[in-house]
Parts: sequence; structure tokens; C-alpha cells
Amino acid sequence: MKTAIAVKELYVSYFGSEALKNVSFTVEEGKLVGIIGPNGAGKSTLLKALLNLIQKEKGEVAILGKTIKEMRTKVAYVPQRSSIDWDFPITVFDTVLLGTYPKLGVFKRPKKIDKAFAYECLEKVGMTEFRNRQIGELSGGQQQRVFLARALAQEPEIYLLDEPFVGVDVTSEETIILILKQLRDLGKTVVVVHHDLRKAKEYFNELILLNKELIDFGVVEKVIQPEVLEKAYNIQFSPLTNLEAKA
Ligand code: ADP
Ligand code: MG
Repeated sequence: MKTAIAVKELYVSYFGSEALKNVSFTVEEGKLVGIIGPNGAGKSTLLKALLNLIQKEKGEVAILGKTIKEMRTKVAYVPQRSSIDWDFPITVFDTVLLGTYPKLGVFKRPKKIDKAFAYECLEKVGMTEFRNRQIGELSGGQQQRVFLARALAQEPEIYLLDEPFVGVDVTSEETIILILKQLRDLGKTVVVVHHDLRKAKEYFNELILLNKELIDFGVVEKVIQPEVLEKAYNIQFSPLTNLEAKA
């Protein structure tokens, strides 16, 4: 098996305050991995550092054995919904079509085949009937599905999603996780920032437990243990703890 993501001794800080400290882990290809940890733990920062969207203080990131600059088109990123400007005037279809652009290269306009593929991706997330809507006129779940469709249109090897289930209805959540599992089964690597610990076992193969430092990393059953979680969340877990309410 090949390594999809290798992070070595990663440090990130904002204006002198440390957000990530000495984080090292590797993700093998074909895995569906969750990043969990309390608010402000650096989960979004970690995704941004993988993508080179923020500057690293120290450390190394390898994507499929190369730098992110070389592999940028192979990595799709779905940012946190709250960080997207939903007033931007663009339709659902054009949003998804944007996903095909990295393959097109500069100055090339999308062709019929790209449009057909964008439509196919919209179909996959069950959103074709909304194709002419402005993205601001959708529910949270619908917006999330459209951004997943855009990621699919990019045909990447690696998917990075930041809190895709926040503010999302049950049907959208089920649609999204089903697609992510299918991608995993096709050998793609999927990394998801997630806060609902109750669903973690059902959704993921492996977990990265973060609180500025890497608290633990490994198969879900190993990480979802009260004594491990307590190291990241400053609260006591018992087998009866309502994990979602605590997180
Ligand atoms: P999480 O996604 O786990 O909630 P973040 O990665 O968003 O955490 O943030 C980690 C820490 O870095 C937090 O303390 C947050 O306030 C801080 N932080 C995040 N983004 C910025 C920024 N652009 N400027 C300054 N501080 C930031
Ligand atoms: Mg975040």
C-alpha cells in the first residue's frame, strides 16, 4: 500500500501562538480517516497546512510522496461551510463545473464533455434539479452536497473535508457518507474533520485525535476509548457518556 499523506514534525502558529505542535502521522491510500478533537484543537489548521494554504513554521508534508505544489490537482478540499462566501453570485452547476478547471489548464474553456461530467457529479449527490439555483439559495445540506460534487468533478486521489456534517440534514449526511465510503472503496483517500464522536466508529477506519499536539492516531476502536479521549478533551468520559454533547 502507498502512503497518501505523510506529515512529519509539523508546527504551525498564528502570530506567535502555537496552533499545531510537533504533529506527525501517515495516512495510507484507500482509507477513510476522521480528524477529531475539541474546538480550537487545530483541525482546520491541519487541513490548511496540508494544502499549503497557511505557512508552516516547521515540518514536512508529503502528498503521494511529492510536495503539495506538485500534487495540488490531486487533492480536493471542501472547506468549512461557515468559511465560504455564500453571497457570491454563482449557480450550483457552475460551482461544480469549477471542479473540472484544474484539469483544463489555463485559458481553456470547459467543453461539452466537462459539462456532462459536472452534471454526472451533481447527479451523484442528488442535486441536478437545483442546478440553476444560486448557491446562496440552498439549505446547509444541499450546499454541502454541491461542494462534494465540485470535489468529485476534480477527480482527485485525496479528499479533504472540513466538518461536512455540520448544519446538515439527515438525508444529506447519509448521502455524503455513502459517497465517501464508495470513494474509499475505489482506493481514494478521504480525510474528514468531524466532531460527532458517536458516529466515528460507524464512519471511519482510522482517527487522528488532535489537541494542538497529536494525542493519538490509529484504528477507530483504539482511539475511541475514554482514557484516550480524556487526554484531548478536558472532561471525563465513561461508556455512558453522550459523546456528541461532550464534544
Ligand atoms: P479547529 O478547527 O480544531 O476548531 P482551528 O484550526 O480553526 O481549530 O484553530 C486552531 C487555533 O488557531 C484556535 O485557537 C484559533 O483561534 C486559532 N486560529 C485559527 N485561525 C486563525 C487565524 N487565521 N488567525 C489567528 N488565529 C487563528
Ligand atoms: Mg475547524
